Amino acid sequence: MRAVVVTEPGRVAPADVPDPRPEPGEVVVRVSSCGLCGTDMHILGGELPPVTYPVIPGHELTGEVVAVGEGGEGATGPAVGDRVAVDPNMPCGACHYCRIGRGNLCEDYRAIGVTQAGGFAEQVAVPARCCYVIPASFSEASAGLIEPLSCAVHGLNRLPRRPGEHYLIYGAGTMGLMMAALVRTAGAASVSVVDLNEERLAFAESFGLDAAVTSADKLALGKGPGFEVVVDATGAVPAIEDGLGRVRKGGTFLQFGVADPARKAAFSPYLVYNSEIDIIGSMAVHNSFQPAIDVLASGLDLDPLVSDVYGLEDFDTAVARFKAGTGRKIHIAPNQAKEG
Ligand SMILES: [Zn+2]
Ligand SMILES: [Zn+2]
Repeated sequence: MRAVVVTEPGRVAPADVPDPRPEPGEVVVRVSSCGLCGTDMHILGGELPPVTYPVIPGHELTGEVVAVGEGGEGATGPAVGDRVAVDPNMPCGACHYCRIGRGNLCEDYRAIGVTQAGGFAEQVAVPARCCYVIPASFSEASAGLIEPLSCAVHGLNRLPRRPGEHYLIYGAGTMGLMMAALVRTAGAASVSVVDLNEERLAFAESFGLDAAVTSADKLALGKGPGFEVVVDATGAVPAIEDGLGRVRKGGTFLQFGVADPARKAAFSPYLVYNSEIDIIGSMAVHNSFQPAIDVLASGLDLDPLVSDVYGLEDFDTAVARFKAGTGRKIHIAPNQAKEG
């Protein structure tokens, strides 16, 4: 079969590789879509320590089960022909954090598309327990967005979630807009977004945001009392520092974006003390995969978030488009050419 292979940091190309066979407890998924995300850029660039090369990246995948290994079906396991979304995270189940029910903080981190072959391939073998059967009614775009949406669901789960509050989100990329759509369903009074990219702001307005601006100074609440909840979905230090100063008294700041581990941000400890601000972190997916599927099944329409779909052989073009930052979510459809 064909797959995108990162042979070493900086070297990536589609190549012929052996077809995967399911080990006991595994299934083989014929990949219909796999989303490209910042984590893939870190794998391509060699900045993600647990990766061992060569690796087939891709962790936001959906497709159809085409083979089931011994014991793979289990009590509720997927069967051949099922349409599934795959949770790429494989917490060890044995470390301190797994044993206290916080598997996303696992000390022996393994994940499909990171520490083992992922979804930028025609087929991939994955643990049956990572598969979630999804309805036939889901659009291909929605099915491919389940993994990033489940990150946003976890972020929402980390928030106090009181109805009637005003939200300010930094970053009008896919993650920021997913968070905006979710907090809306959780009863937000208003949702505004800050981004420096004008193209993204124009789309954000069409996506139902109350305001989409280049600076929070342009918002009455931004200049005034602040927002009950401020979410950073950029990982950019200037955005984080600005956002911490826009939290209303008694409010919450959520660090949802992935910042450079080497960077530090300045904030006022007096402000945190005097205004009783909660600062919360949210990392990846935690018991949020099925809820993400159920939110989509309830009618949340995220299809406009997918701006491009490329075949496997156009992976270079997709990466260039991602790095240019002009699109939204980019999906790779590994079997697209065959299906014509
Ligand atoms: Zn991702
Ligand atoms: Zn663990």
